[in-house]
Amino acid sequence: MDTGTKSSKGKVVVIGGGITGLTAAWRLREAGREVTLLEADARTGGVIRTEEIDGFLAELGPNTLQETREETAQLIEALGLGGQRVAATTSARNRFILRDGRPRPLPFSPFSLFLGGFFSPRARLRLLAEPFIRRAPPDSRETVAEFVERRLGREILDYAVNPFVAGTFAARPGDLSLRHAFPRLHRMEQEHGSLIRAGVFGRRYRPKGPRGIFSFADGLRVIPDALTQRLGDAIRTGAQVTGLDSRPGDGWRVRVKTGNRSDTLAADAVILTVPPRALQPIELDGKSFETRLSLEKRLPAPPLAVVFFACRRDQVRHPLNGFGMLVPEREKRKILGVLFSSSLFPGRAPKHHVSLTVFVGGSRQPDLARLPEVELENVVRKELFELLGVEGPPCTLRHAFWPSVIPHYPLDHDTLLGEFDQIETDHPGLLIGGTVRQGVSLGDCIGSGFALANRTEKLVTETAQT
Ligand SMILES: Cc1cc2nc3c(=O)[nH]c(=O)nc-3n(C[C@H](O)[C@H](O)[C@H](O)COP(=O)(O)OP(=O)(O)OC[C@H]3O[C@@H](n4cnc5c(N)ncnc54)[C@H](O)[C@@H]3O)c2cc1C
Repeated sequence: MDTGTKSSKGKVVVIGGGITGLTAAWRLREAGREVTLLEADARTGGVIRTEEIDGFLAELGPNTLQETREETAQLIEALGLGGQRVAATTSARNRFILRDGRPRPLPFSPFSLFLGGFFSPRARLRLLAEPFIRRAPPDSRETVAEFVERRLGREILDYAVNPFVAGTFAARPGDLSLRHAFPRLHRMEQEHGSLIRAGVFGRRYRPKGPRGIFSFADGLRVIPDALTQRLGDAIRTGAQVTGLDSRPGDGWRVRVKTGNRSDTLAADAVILTVPPRALQPIELDGKSFETRLSLEKRLPAPPLAVVFFACRRDQVRHPLNGFGMLVPEREKRKILGVLFSSSLFPGRAPKHHVSLTVFVGGSRQPDLARLPEVELENVVRKELFELLGVEGPPCTLRHAFWPSVIPHYPLDHDTLLGEFDQIETDHPGLLIGGTVRQGVSLGDCIGSGFALANRTEKLVTETAQT
């Protein structure tokens, strides 16, 4: 069925109902555009997956938001969600890193960094040399591992940055381009010549600390839920986009599969917000994005498993007095890290119970992420027993498998970004955003949604005037 007779100027189709697509669609609708959002899954929210299970609140995708971008605050205020915000508890300031088989608190102030015993005297001396290390040329192409080892030394790389990168990107520091994965660190070096000097003198670089980390009383799902409600019948779920065809002078036709039914939608502009693996098979004028861009090789996104594990408080020896524990690769364990979920935010577990969220796989051990649930549970139970003293079976367990959602930006990511730009130039009315381009955090995705809507608004207005 072709529902795409001649398109009206200003009709926009958004593909993907994760946080990026929902934000873009909502902004455009607010601006008075006729918007249709197509989501392949039966539900919106993408990887944001909050579930209530036996009195526990579980996050099987992202757990925390941080106000690193002003669009996040703007979105929350516009949706009227400010009153439901919950800040991370003060104990979340403590972060544990596994070292020599034991969870040890990571120093969080410069004072404790130099006087505490987490890092060796040699590593601390090496840190003092950081302000005297020359900055790299502005166009240098360095991985996160190369940058950190050059500026801060091997031990900081192995015991602070390696576990942090596993916890945020499910990656190894050598997998990621510094400029694309951590642009702020690149700017700090370029503008101040030193990370320590930038930390002392560059106020805008200072992290906001745990007070800046938050969620909502009912979990992160409240954002996609509120956006879904606002968008109402503009959303079509169970609608998988298979192809896009441009009609010079007459906009776009979007091919959609709903179950075993196929149809076509007309649009003046099309916004793509799907992650790399979902972008690969989509055809653009008869040629798939994989054929055009070789995304499989150039934008790896290894699998990740999340195991939500809840039990009685008296089953756990560790006090769980912190944000969680990250595991450096050198420790040779089978998990990437554990969030102490019921310590991180209040109200996440019934009285006398606790909850933990365990991450497995990533580029370190992709095969472990693919284990069937029963085997994965055994791996997780053994690790939790040995590392945190968790005894006995869980009272509740939930498992989520994310086959390929967090892209690892490689050193030549600029080349791919240039190719995305070229595709947009060659196909007026097509906009590509979300994690395939730059930034995987929720804040980055919300920012991408705002930017996509602004660009579309400009484009549709200009087209209408011609
Ligand atoms: C386990 C995990 C933990 C994370 N933790 C954090 C965290 O604590 N804090 C943080 O800031 N970030 C975190 N992130 C990152 C962040 O959650 C994601 O990068 C972000 O949510 C991605 O949103 P998105 O809308 O771009 O993509 P997605 O959420 O992947 O949404 C894309 C949507 O497109 C749909 N789709 C795919 N193909 C098609 C098609 N052909 N047609 C129609 N629809 C299609 C999909 O079904 C999906 O709903 C985490 C990610 C994961 C996986």
